[in-house]
Formats: sequence, C-alpha cells, structure tokens
Amino acid sequence: MIKSYWQNYINGSYVDGGAGRMVVDNPADGSQLAEVALANARDVDAAVAAARAAHEQGYLRKLRPVERGRIVRKMGDYLLEHKERFADILTLESGKPYWEAVIEIEGSARYFEYYGNQAETVEGKSIPLGDAYFDFTTYEPLGISAQIIPWNYPVEMTARGVAAALATGNACVVKSPEQDPLALSLLGEAAEAAGLPKGQLNILCGTGIEAGAALAGHPDIDQIVFTGSVGTGIAVAKAAASHVTPAVLELGGKSAAIVMPDADIDNLVESVRWGIFFNAGQVCSAMSRLILHKDIHDETVEKITALADSLSVGPGTERREFGANMGAMVSEVQRDRAENMVAEAAQQGATIATGGHKLNRPGWFLEPTIVTDVTPDMTIAREEVFGPVLSVLKCDDVESGISIANDSEYGLVGGIFTQDVDKANKAAQQIRAGQVFINEWFAGGVETPFGGFGKSGYGREKGREALWNYVQTKNIAYRLR
Ligand code: ADP
Repeated sequence: MIKSYWQNYINGSYVDGGAGRMVVDNPADGSQLAEVALANARDVDAAVAAARAAHEQGYLRKLRPVERGRIVRKMGDYLLEHKERFADILTLESGKPYWEAVIEIEGSARYFEYYGNQAETVEGKSIPLGDAYFDFTTYEPLGISAQIIPWNYPVEMTARGVAAALATGNACVVKSPEQDPLALSLLGEAAEAAGLPKGQLNILCGTGIEAGAALAGHPDIDQIVFTGSVGTGIAVAKAAASHVTPAVLELGGKSAAIVMPDADIDNLVESVRWGIFFNAGQVCSAMSRLILHKDIHDETVEKITALADSLSVGPGTERREFGANMGAMVSEVQRDRAENMVAEAAQQGATIATGGHKLNRPGWFLEPTIVTDVTPDMTIAREEVFGPVLSVLKCDDVESGISIANDSEYGLVGGIFTQDVDKANKAAQQIRAGQVFINEWFAGGVETPFGGFGKSGYGREKGREALWNYVQTKNIAYRLR
C-alpha cells in the first residue's frame, strides 16, 4: 500500500496544486494507484521564485566545490538507503519489473555519486595577454535549471539533470511526468537528508500543456533541460527561445544495429534482449531497427524470435529478480499506439514473426514483438514505436547497412556487430548518431556523453560534457600596469 495523495514540493514544503489533483494509475491492472497534486502556472511561479531566492541567498553556489559535491553524493546515498521503497513505488506507477526499478534507482544514485565527484573539477584557465595583464576564466552557475522529465525513467532522468545542476551550484525546478510522478517526488526527502536549503530543489507535477509550458516559457529560469518527444521538444525550444533561455533537448530515436556475417550471434541476441525489451522498449536509445546481413538473416531471426517468446510478460511487482521477463507499458495510449503501428506494418507488407498483440488481461501489456521483411520506406522503419517492437531489415554489405541506418531524421545512437575492425571503424565514422556501440548495445555509462544528431536533439547529457550545460564562462582581465 502506498499513500493515496501526493503533494508537490515547493520551497521546502509539501503543498497542494492550483489545478487540483490527477489520478496516477497502475499500468499492471489499470486501477487507481494514487492521486497527485496538479500544479498550475501560479505554482510554477512559486517554485521558480523559491529557486531564485535560494540561488540569490547563495548557500550552495558559494560553498567550496568539494563540500557541494559531498551534498550531492549524500542524495545518492539516501536513494541507496531507501532503494526498496523507491523501487516498490516506481514499479507500481510505471509498470516495469521490480528488478528493473532497482536498476533505475541504483542508476540514479550513480548520477549523484558521479556528479558529486565532478563538482571540484570545474576549473577555469589563465590566458596569457603579455606582462601588462593577468587574465583568467571562471565558470559560474547559470542560476535556475528547469527540468521537464519524461515518464520512461522518471527517477533516473531527474537524477541525471539535477545532480549535474546542483554540483555546479544551480537551483532546480523539476516538472515530473503525469504518468509516474510518485517515486521521483521522494527526491525531496533526499534533498533534505543531504542538507540542501529550502528552494534549492523544487518538484512539481502538472500537465505538460499547463505546468510544462509555463515552466519552459518562464522569464525567470536560466536554463531548461527537456527529454521527450520531438513535437514537445520543439514547443519547449520555442518557449525557451522567447526569453533567450539556453536549452538541452534529448528527443527520440530510431536507432539501428547493423549485423555482419562474422558477428557473434549469441552476443547479439543478448544485446537485443536489453536493446529492445528492457523497460518494454520504452527507451529513447532503444535498438528499434536491426539491419541483418542477408547471409545470417534467417538464422538470426530464428534466435531473436525464440528470445522474444521466452520472455514472461506480467505485473512488475511479481517480477522481483533479474530474468527473462518484461512488465507493462506505461499507459493504455502508448500500448495501443504500439499495437496499431505493428498492425499497420503488416498491412504495408511486413511479417510479424512473433508478438504484436496486447495480452488478454487487464493492464497495458504488449507481447514482445519482432517484425521482419521491413523495408526502409515503411512507417515502422521511420517512426518511433516506443514499445517492445523490433523492426528487422536486410542489407547486402556494410555500406548498404550504414546507408539504411542513416536513412532517418533521428540520430541518437547506432551500432554494429562484427569481428572485423575495418568494418567497425567504417561504421563508427559513418553512422550519424551521437553514440556508436560496437558489439554491445548500450556499451558506455554515466561517464559517457549522450545526445543526438538531427531531430534527436542538441546538447549532451551524462559525462563531464554535461557539466558545461549548467555553467557559463566569465573572463576576468586585470590590467596590472
Ligand atoms: P509523451 O508524449 O510520450 O508523454 P512528451 O514529450 O509530450 O512525451 O512529454 C515529456 C514531458 O514533457 C512530460 O513531462 C510532459 O508533461 C511535458 N510536456 C508536454 N507538453 C509540454 C509543453 N507544451 N511544454 C512543456 N512541457 C510539456
């Protein structure tokens, strides 16, 4: 049992929302899980004002960075100490298996550890101007970082942005996603346990159209980080541009793995398992297209079909241990959309090798799905499904594989599976994406920069690169004589 009503966290207090309440449902059976306070534009104003006051008061930004880093790391420690509680709630509201929720909470803690450790590495430089001057640069926090969070990894996406923002001395206003805002709101507890002053981190839930838009277009924020769909990303970027507010956008993907005949197919199958069935495929950087060399096409399809069929699909609360299983999708809308896209692919001539249907039970479940005979012109090869649906295409050689992979308006990640270093290098250089995986999908970590080419967005999150999203350079020049 979880509490039935969850409030917003503004200026260190838990408060109701000006827009009333909204129901959060349980994707595993469609029942009502809890209600959440819905913020309106006035609540957004209050949160931004609280963040501004905290920033002006300056406790965090004036600290020696090592101390600031320790506070940020303590937030991660709090998550680990309360891992089971966070994961229980996240499982209930998102539909993911419990063991995946645990991975998300551990991943969130890792962001606080990583960016806490980075706090004292943000250093300026001295620029020689001859002996009449002494010139140096410093990095100042931007001020108020607004973070609009998607529903697929609500806690982890918040941790990713907030950890870097706080480590560099900013104050934050977080707009949580409507579908699963509950576990994320517990980060307010982590902030208090770590000793953040009130107003330094504010968390509110509200609709995108009201609270999200009010935050993105707020004249008093200094930066915005958005993760979500392309259409919403464009709206956020336009709203930010009206106040010349810098934005980081992490949008969708239609990422492809290319497989050559010399690849280790069992290893590839393992990557397919994580690449498209982890979080029921609701991952921006999912392996949503698989481009198989014609010589190993049939054998590989047989193996990945067997993999999809081996996954037991059901309530996340019953899936406690890591294993061959998958949970519900986040909402009926998302599930039905994915199911319809598979049906449309079949109408356009693709073959459904396995899956494609919702489960005959309450809750938002979709079978793990493999669609073969997909050609690059089909909708399913071009548009993001954001579900457990893998599109399989065929290529003749590495060149044609790369050109199919690049035939997309997105460019988030990509990959190649081969033992041939020359082919791997060629693909690494020619795939248009912010991150290329060779022989393991999702190879990398919190330390490696992540972000897209093309309509997948701009700016980079994760790694040290993301620190520069949260600071601005100031050059100081002394005339000595
Ligand atoms: P989805 O359609 O999959 O829910 P979105 O990209 O629309 O994905 O949502 C991601 C986040 O953006 C959510 O927190 C949502 O509330 C928010 N959002 C939606 N519309 C807007 C908007 N017009 N302005 C700002 N934020 C928005």
